[in-house]
Amino acid sequence: MSTPFTTVAGVTVDTRHWIGGERVASAGTFTDTSPIDGAVIGEIARGTEAEAAAAVAAAKAAFPGWAATPRAERARVLHAIADGVEKRLEELAVVETTDNGALLRSHRRGVMPRVAHNFRFFADWLLRLDHEDFETRGHTNHVSWDPAGPCVLITPWNAPLMLATWKVAPALAAGDTVVLKPAEWSPLTASLLADIAAEAGLPAGVLNVVQGYGSEIGDVLTSHPDVRRISFTGSVPTAQRIAASAAARLTPLSLELGGKSPLLVFADADLDLAVDLAVEQYDNAGQVCLAGTRLLVEETVAAEFTRRFVDKAARLRQGDPRDEATDIGPTIHPRQLEKIDGFVQRALAAGARAVVGGHRRDGQYYAPTLLTDVAQDSEIVQEEVFGPVLTLQTFADEDEAVRLANGTRFGLAATVVTGDPARAERVTARLVAGTVWVNCFFVRDLQAPFGGSRQSGVGREGGTWSFDFYCDLKNTVTAPKGWQDHG
Ligand code: NAD
Repeated sequence: MSTPFTTVAGVTVDTRHWIGGERVASAGTFTDTSPIDGAVIGEIARGTEAEAAAAVAAAKAAFPGWAATPRAERARVLHAIADGVEKRLEELAVVETTDNGALLRSHRRGVMPRVAHNFRFFADWLLRLDHEDFETRGHTNHVSWDPAGPCVLITPWNAPLMLATWKVAPALAAGDTVVLKPAEWSPLTASLLADIAAEAGLPAGVLNVVQGYGSEIGDVLTSHPDVRRISFTGSVPTAQRIAASAAARLTPLSLELGGKSPLLVFADADLDLAVDLAVEQYDNAGQVCLAGTRLLVEETVAAEFTRRFVDKAARLRQGDPRDEATDIGPTIHPRQLEKIDGFVQRALAAGARAVVGGHRRDGQYYAPTLLTDVAQDSEIVQEEVFGPVLTLQTFADEDEAVRLANGTRFGLAATVVTGDPARAERVTARLVAGTVWVNCFFVRDLQAPFGGSRQSGVGREGGTWSFDFYCDLKNTVTAPKGWQDHG
């Protein structure tokens, strides 16, 4: 490794792993490039089985101390990490934008404040997490949330620090120790998080960051006998490999996976609202697991909806995500761009019509695209593209709308746009989805359960659901005083 640091937009980032409270190099590196212009932004330590095992060993060694740390002290350290995130918010925002290409204004105003909130929320929730006591024939049942042990957290590139801290914060709050494996296409903010956590006083080994390719170090982490929990956000094929690897030891898994979510527009909807919500699905260049990429529009308003959509989409500005005026940035990686274009070109060859976009632009930019004339069983309707590509299908009535909406192997989210509250109630009751939004999109609260149905995931995160996952729940039954007297 030439130098263990890189400087990104004036911010120094250590490119080594963070293991047991120390920076650790690897013999090899991998190259991290910026999606904005393809420039090399770092040579990152490429973890091997040795570093992965060392990270688990460090997490194991640190576990007894952190698990025994009083809740109030754990909560204090988590708030100190949140303070550190807020102090370095601008640095985190510019580094993340350079690394993954999402809009700088979103990172500044939405994402990074939420990263800090993740720590504050789970710190506060920990203190409210009460023991449940109840009685059975005079005996006391005492239900407790015991720390489970070292956790392996594996995260994707589309919202790197946001998704990582959504796991790191509740795991640390629960008293667990962590090995975080960030995605190889956007590893930098995980390294900054390690610095921030150390400065906040998190003891050595409680949080470890090991970088590298999932295909090279994933198995060591997910099959390790000392790992008590695996939480993964990413694609279905990777989840299948992780589940197979974890199966030998039945290590509990939380899986937040892909989606192909529907956005249903009924004729009684406010059409301008429906169009706004539909165009919003291009956010982060479509690299959003929750995106409602299948527009399902009642046939009587489909022509007018399409006209207004095309009009609004034409006004979107695509370009450098550091520019405040930009609406849509680049695609994360040339390989992802290839994948997106492959989906679109195959759909066009199969008879789809691009009413918006349908092609690449210069560099790593893909034109926002809307495809019509697509069949329900076609690849473009059934498979997650993870790019700025939407499809539009029409429906005649509620039954058909629900049938199309539920007609994939996914079940992450759904959005319903209607002016009729009774219809909203009827339709949402029939949708298979972890989250349903009515006349809104992306409103999220950490108190709510979050996760996917069907192949969109296993388990739920948020509030007590996160603690249920990261803890060993225990029920202790104690006999009443003087029980011997009663024989
Ligand atoms: P991916 O599955 O390719 O990679 C995710 C992570 O898994 C990376 O860190 C990668 O290095 C690691 N990995 C790869 N092979 C591994 C293995 N064999 N063992 C262990 N780890 C391994 O996913 P991606 O392309 O980074 O992310 C995009 C996907 O993530 C999309 O499907 C998207 O819908 C999904 N996603 C879901 C949510 C959600 O909350 N449901 C949120 C964001 C993204």
